[in-house]
Amino acid sequence: MTVPAHAQFVVIGGGIIGCSTAYHLAKDHKADVVLLEQGKLTSGSTWHAAGLVGQLRSSASITQVLKRSVELYKTLEAETGLATGWKMTGCLRLATNDDRWTEFKRLATTARSFGMDMELISPAEVKRMWPLLETSDLIGASWLPTDGQASPSDITQSLARGARMHGAKIHESVRVTGFEMDGARIVAVLTTDGRIACETVINCGGQWAREIGAMAGITVPLQPVKHQYIVTEKLDGLSPDVATIRDPDRRTYFKEEVGGLVMGGYEPDPISWTTGDIPRPFEFQLFDDDWEHFEQHLTQAIARVPALETTGVRQMINGPESFTPDGNFILGAAPECTNMYVGAGFNAFGIASGGGAGWALAEWAVRGEAPLDLWVVDIRRFSALHRDRDWVNERTLEAYGKHYTVGFPHEEYESGRNRIVSPLYDRLKAAGAVFGSKLGWERPNWFAPAGAVAHDVYSMGRQNWFGPVGDEHRLVRHKAGLFDQSSFAKYEVTGNDAAAALNWIAANNIDKPVGRLTYTQMLNSRGGIECDLTISRLADDRFYIVTGTGFRTHDLAWIREHIPSGLDAKVDDVTEAFGTLSLMGPTAVSVLAAVTKDSIDFPFGQFRILQIAGHPVRALRVTYVGEKGWELHMPIKGIGDVYDALMQVGLSAGLRPVGYRALESLRLEKGYRAWGSDITPNDTPFEAGLGWAVKLKSGIPFMGRDALLALQGKPMKKQLATFTTDREDVVLLGRETILRNDEFAGYLTSGGYGYTIGKPIGLGYVRHPEPATGDYELVVANERVKARIHFEPLYDPQNLKVKA
Ligand SMILES: Cc1cc2nc3c(=O)[nH]c(=O)nc-3n(C[C@H](O)[C@H](O)[C@H](O)COP(=O)(O)OP(=O)(O)OC[C@H]3O[C@@H](n4cnc5c(N)ncnc54)[C@H](O)[C@@H]3O)c2cc1C
Repeated sequence: MTVPAHAQFVVIGGGIIGCSTAYHLAKDHKADVVLLEQGKLTSGSTWHAAGLVGQLRSSASITQVLKRSVELYKTLEAETGLATGWKMTGCLRLATNDDRWTEFKRLATTARSFGMDMELISPAEVKRMWPLLETSDLIGASWLPTDGQASPSDITQSLARGARMHGAKIHESVRVTGFEMDGARIVAVLTTDGRIACETVINCGGQWAREIGAMAGITVPLQPVKHQYIVTEKLDGLSPDVATIRDPDRRTYFKEEVGGLVMGGYEPDPISWTTGDIPRPFEFQLFDDDWEHFEQHLTQAIARVPALETTGVRQMINGPESFTPDGNFILGAAPECTNMYVGAGFNAFGIASGGGAGWALAEWAVRGEAPLDLWVVDIRRFSALHRDRDWVNERTLEAYGKHYTVGFPHEEYESGRNRIVSPLYDRLKAAGAVFGSKLGWERPNWFAPAGAVAHDVYSMGRQNWFGPVGDEHRLVRHKAGLFDQSSFAKYEVTGNDAAAALNWIAANNIDKPVGRLTYTQMLNSRGGIECDLTISRLADDRFYIVTGTGFRTHDLAWIREHIPSGLDAKVDDVTEAFGTLSLMGPTAVSVLAAVTKDSIDFPFGQFRILQIAGHPVRALRVTYVGEKGWELHMPIKGIGDVYDALMQVGLSAGLRPVGYRALESLRLEKGYRAWGSDITPNDTPFEAGLGWAVKLKSGIPFMGRDALLALQGKPMKKQLATFTTDREDVVLLGRETILRNDEFAGYLTSGGYGYTIGKPIGLGYVRHPEPATGDYELVVANERVKARIHFEPLYDPQNLKVKA
């Protein structure tokens, strides 16, 4: 069968992800789909997967995607006639220490927040369910009854048959060798069997996805790592329906298979495969057994299932799997190319993700917009840094090694650090800065006082930085603090139609006089919030945009993709050209006045160019902390001079550098929202309490307007609110369940502590908010605590009223 000359969608890769995507494109969208597989279906990583299917992740949307997989695997056999091997066995996670137990309590709460019933059970109950387990060292276990296991090859073949039944054409033994490009657009896929002109390409190439992406100029930052498991002979007394086991403290997992056990693990010292191209051919291929490396898992597994000591091993599997630098998979529209989508890098949960990820990718590729908030897996969370293969390898191995370690709150990666440092790095370090990293940037999280331990000491309760961050917080409230926010992503939009283009993309009116700045969201067609940023008008035809560090690639791509064609407007990333210092607090006025001869008497929502220490500084009157202050943006080479000038005059006013953890606590008290957690593509400005920043009344058209008009005046399904509790000892992190009159009413999207009000604070959407009365509680690590709901900021700087 030769390949067709044209297709609407070309899916590359016949593993579970490619087959699921083709299935959904063909079935849900009646699309014209061609799937190309260089070898046979499943011959990459899919055929040798262990087949555990877990659903719970730390993001509600990703959990929803994984739940979709399970729903599909339950019914697929009836639809296609090919079995999937799906068994809803449930999953037990074992805890052997207090930190792990706290982690599980939080996990059980998250599960309930996301609509799943996870129970915590005793060692005796574990023994009853799984008699072959050694349970004497257990504190308990979590039990998620709806998890299960499946046969990876069978599901994939079943999806492929389903895709064919709905008209998809699947070609095996056809390799994609390149792309014919027209600028940043693919016009045709070149293969060993000829050329296919197409509209959209979907790269589901597994560990080859990096090479396939590179052929179209896109970065897919994944790293193949060798992952091993064994399959044992039969064990007496092992039920075929026994639960899958995750034993993170022993770094191992188990699953029943034809009377024996599949057992594998996540070692602290993983072995990556090539950082170059994958050798060819590599079809249904494995690496040599590495017993020496696997011994660490075997020892732990025998301690957990003593019967393994005398059970033979039928087979060892040592296969490659693509892992990523943050342990999440890679989905969505590649920012460097206008018509390539990616679904790859599944971090050993590709079977669990397959059904749902294929659905999401198909929706995304057909509609040009993600169907729900998929930020944590979005390919646009990466940046130029991720083109560095050695960096990707190093960080990925660290992430793999942490797969089963206790997930402490606020944990930072240790590898691949100090990639991008502000010119102030040495000055801040000398001032006691303890740094964290964000998209390659080193940023001060907090400042250790003289004599204190100058690094994070992780724990499940309050951590060692709690006190010093409180001091920084109070400094900003009572005097002034200086934040180095040079890592902010910054763009300039220029052109005769720049105002028209941005006014189409932005929900707020940005067409204001030069010198004004606008806080705005950018919305998708559902009215969901895709970006949250400020736009300053530098000239009639020139705008300066500032957004969060992590959103650099995402927001740039969103703006670039949505500039209406034919308009004279272009957007450039100027992040590294400007350094940013945020000077915030009651004494900020006197400090700023002392370093410039220019007038600083201009209102909130405006900016001026000030000369400071011989440098032109864009001073933006804006705040994320709820105090009077300025974001000072200057050519990066001048930031040292400006910092020194401010610190010199500020010393007597109590000015000190302040870090990101204080920023977080300050913004929570003021109720400022954070994109990615409090406001996402799932939330409209109305629900987020940001309706005031939308130009609906103006009659000016903008993206998302129709969706908002349809919602206007209707009762809201949910509304963002602030919660406090008087329980001082409670640690809020986000994802805690909100109860109203004993019933589920939502969950927190952010959590932290407000040092001015002296209480833990959470933000979260409350369902059916009218009326918002009732008795509220938060479920925190499985414990109910009394809470209060607030729709106004807890801290009002105008009259210093504390409302909590
Ligand atoms: C030992 C091991 C155990 C695992 N256990 C589990 C588990 O228990 N649960 C779980 O959920 N996941 C597990 N996984 C992970 C799972 O196997 C993968 O996440 C999943 O198979 C990835 O599917 P994929 O479709 O992305 O990649 P693949 O299956 O590798 O498919 C990609 C396909 O693209 C094809 N291709 C590449 N380049 C080209 C080209 N140029 N032209 C045409 N075709 C091309 C390849 O031939 C390949 O078939 C495990 C993985 C390993 C290694």
